[in-house]
Amino acid sequence: MPVCLKTEWIGEKTSPSRPSNSFPFPPVSTESLISMNSLPLRSLVAGLWVAGFNLPAATPLATGHADVGIGYEGGFDLHVHDGENDIEYSPADALLVVGSQSLQFSTGGSFAFLGPVGTPVWVLPQAENPDLLFLGLGTEELIPSEWTGNITLTLTSVSGPGQFYLWTVNPFGTPSVQMDSANGVSAADNTTQLPGSHGHYNWGFSALGTYGISFEASGLHVADGPQNSGPVVYHFEVVPEPGSLALGLFGLGAFGLLLRWRKA
Ligand SMILES: [Zn+2]
Repeated sequence: MPVCLKTEWIGEKTSPSRPSNSFPFPPVSTESLISMNSLPLRSLVAGLWVAGFNLPAATPLATGHADVGIGYEGGFDLHVHDGENDIEYSPADALLVVGSQSLQFSTGGSFAFLGPVGTPVWVLPQAENPDLLFLGLGTEELIPSEWTGNITLTLTSVSGPGQFYLWTVNPFGTPSVQMDSANGVSAADNTTQLPGSHGHYNWGFSALGTYGISFEASGLHVADGPQNSGPVVYHFEVVPEPGSLALGLFGLGAFGLLLRWRKA
């Protein structure tokens, strides 16, 4: 069962710390991309950013403690629990923001599921980082005596520009991969929680952009029998670093540009 463990960075960040809480429109650093000094271009980028933001009604959650919550009211009720404000959101009403400070790089070896050494991956970490959303999975609303065995959360689909990974890291630094869309999505992409419990994970994404990630909860209710929520979509947005908004315009080309800039 996943538990809260200390932070395990899988790689070194190559850029200095940057301001957080920059959602939905990160501040533009005029020193970072010269082309951004052009006001018309800034406006264009802002317009595209808004146009590409397909969840205008969703509330962005960018920092603090939140959980994918699994409740039960005659059937599973999947939601997002904002632990900072004690607010529950329908999954469609919350945008889980993967902030720019989440950028890490695969170290290969036991982390090769994230790609070869140096592969960028944006990670909401298992241990709290105040600059990022601290996202877990909570079944505290379930009454343990009403359930036989664990509650299973299974990945059913990933829609977005890249891959999705869910894993934990033990105190020895060894990862345990629970979900990995890079090798296909199947019933093997699951994690389990005891009813009435709570755990934290690393939530990884292989590319910037907006994702719709579907999960389905299942379990055996003592009185009501086998239960399955069916697929429920959660929305994530992997946000570029401040100053790299042009990513949305130029895609991978701009990413290469950004990498070159960061090496300078
Ligand atoms: Zn939590």
